[in-house]
Amino acid sequence: MLRVSCGRYVYGGIFMDDILEFFVCDSCSNKDFSPLYNFSLRFHGVNFSDELIYDEMIEERYQCTKCQKSFSKKEIEEGLSELRKKRKMD
Ligand SMILES: [Zn+2]
Repeated sequence: MLRVSCGRYVYGGIFMDDILEFFVCDSCSNKDFSPLYNFSLRFHGVNFSDELIYDEMIEERYQCTKCQKSFSKKEIEEGLSELRKKRKMD
């Protein structure tokens, strides 16, 4: 886990310390990801017909800019919810 303190902000006269926590790559601890998209067509048959119908599917993944490991949106969201849990325990 990478923790970055953003310094102090004056907000409405109150000093606040903001803490940013990043989802990091689990193999190299990098915090930078670039988006990857897969575009596909899923074909399936219809009863009593020779025709195939299809669904267009777009899958979004995020690739670590350092080690090229890619993560699904779900994996990122799970990682972020882990961070939330840890924050509550502190
Ligand atoms: Zn990585």
